[in-house]
Amino acid sequence: MKRRKFIQQSSAAGLAFSFMPLACAEPAPKLDAEILILGGGLSGLYLAYLLDKAGKDYLVLEGSNRIGGRMFSREDIGREVGGRGIGDKYSEVMKLVKEFNTEMIDITDYMRSPSAIYLEGKLYDKWPDPKTNPAYLQFSAFGKSPQLTALNQWYQKPELDETYSELLKRNGLSEEQIDLANISANYNDIRETSAINAYHSSAFRKFNGSERVLNFKGGSHHFINAIANSLKNPVLTDKMVNTIDDNGKEVVVKCADDSIYRAKKVVSTMPFTTLRDVKMNTSFNGNQKRAINELDYTDITQIHLQHTEPFWEQDEMPFDMWTDTPLERIMNMSSSPTEKELACWVNGLGTAFFDKMSEKEVADYTIKKINEIRPSTVGKIEYLGQQNWGKYKYNKGAYVEFGVGQAAWFEDMIKPAGNMHFAGEHTAHESRGMEAAAESARRVYNELMT
Ligand SMILES: Cc1cc2nc3c(=O)[nH]c(=O)nc-3n(C[C@H](O)[C@H](O)[C@H](O)COP(=O)(O)OP(=O)(O)OC[C@H]3O[C@@H](n4cnc5c(N)ncnc54)[C@H](O)[C@@H]3O)c2cc1C
Repeated sequence: MKRRKFIQQSSAAGLAFSFMPLACAEPAPKLDAEILILGGGLSGLYLAYLLDKAGKDYLVLEGSNRIGGRMFSREDIGREVGGRGIGDKYSEVMKLVKEFNTEMIDITDYMRSPSAIYLEGKLYDKWPDPKTNPAYLQFSAFGKSPQLTALNQWYQKPELDETYSELLKRNGLSEEQIDLANISANYNDIRETSAINAYHSSAFRKFNGSERVLNFKGGSHHFINAIANSLKNPVLTDKMVNTIDDNGKEVVVKCADDSIYRAKKVVSTMPFTTLRDVKMNTSFNGNQKRAINELDYTDITQIHLQHTEPFWEQDEMPFDMWTDTPLERIMNMSSSPTEKELACWVNGLGTAFFDKMSEKEVADYTIKKINEIRPSTVGKIEYLGQQNWGKYKYNKGAYVEFGVGQAAWFEDMIKPAGNMHFAGEHTAHESRGMEAAAESARRVYNELMT
């Protein structure tokens, strides 16, 4: 009896095994890390740094061939093309600055230099009437509206969610003044963007309370490299993520080079502009998927040049220029009080003009136009290169810019979705820019540790 039972049992087991798919018979593939961090910009690196300190097992996958993301010291042209200015009260970023003894330059006393004005074909050494300066008009009109009384209110105020131009108009700006303000406002189009962005930035300035503006001496890469070099696990570059599959037990991430990584949790620090191109399987919350697919980002194109002779000494005009031409603002981007780094800064709608051009056409147009605006530059400026953040494939935009109705998605969009968490500049409750990237990393660190 005993023997027959044994034979029955073992043959049943044999039968069962013979029908089992091979994969089930094998032990589940080993996890590559407990936590996968997608994106090696400030947010991803800071999260890795925090997890390192807590003794956690993580891996950072970065799509491009370099770390830093939107903090970008471009070696080929010798220029900073991304985030560079921090406030002395940016608490998370300043903690890192201190930890890594990062050398900073305080640019507060010379950052606001006078600007020449090129308007309707004429060059002025300043605004003919200071009250017509569009930056002044914009901020004085915005300031007439009651401001937020706490830093994290901006996404909870549907009553403030209207186009920025509607607010400015109600507070006294004419359509012509709105057109002028639109040239240098840091948005795609103030007739489309939500006034919530202005409320948020203004609240961040007020409640953060920074009094000094600091730049990274020698470039932001010193800071970024210091964080990366402190990590136990080196960042894996050229890992462009294209699939995230959360099966409830583990998350499987696939990259464009066919490599596959498995982890218990995944943290995306990628901007939503690139995350929306990733095939994802997880359980999203409310408006989260919509936010990933539709959230707006500001387009910025910088055109970098250098001078071969000090043209501003010849015509005795200020170095910087505000223009109503496609070049918009022409400015000194150097962190040094004595050196000059010439660049054009084109925002939002205006970037489309250059998107259609080849690099040579951008270079030729820019030199010709600056020569026309300012004859003292003829033969004294050279093209270095452009940074088109809207077209740069790893970001597709400079920073988040909430369209009307989009701030209402904020709380859903930053919640963990299954085993997937969301960090990055666009997911901060309070801050903006680099401090937002770091704040969001701290939030996700807390989510992972509870
Ligand atoms: C022109 C410009 C000027 C700025 N000026 C300032 C300033 O003066 N002060 C300030 O505080 N902030 C400034 N900022 C903003 C600041 O730089 C950013 O908020 C911050 O660096 C964002 O960090 P992050 O880690 O959230 O995102 P990112 O730095 O964008 O990091 C995300 C990373 O994800 C990677 N990635 C994208 N897609 C994939 C994929 N599919 N697979 C794998 N990896 C992927 C990207 O390559 C990138 O490295 C500026 C930004 C720009 C563009």
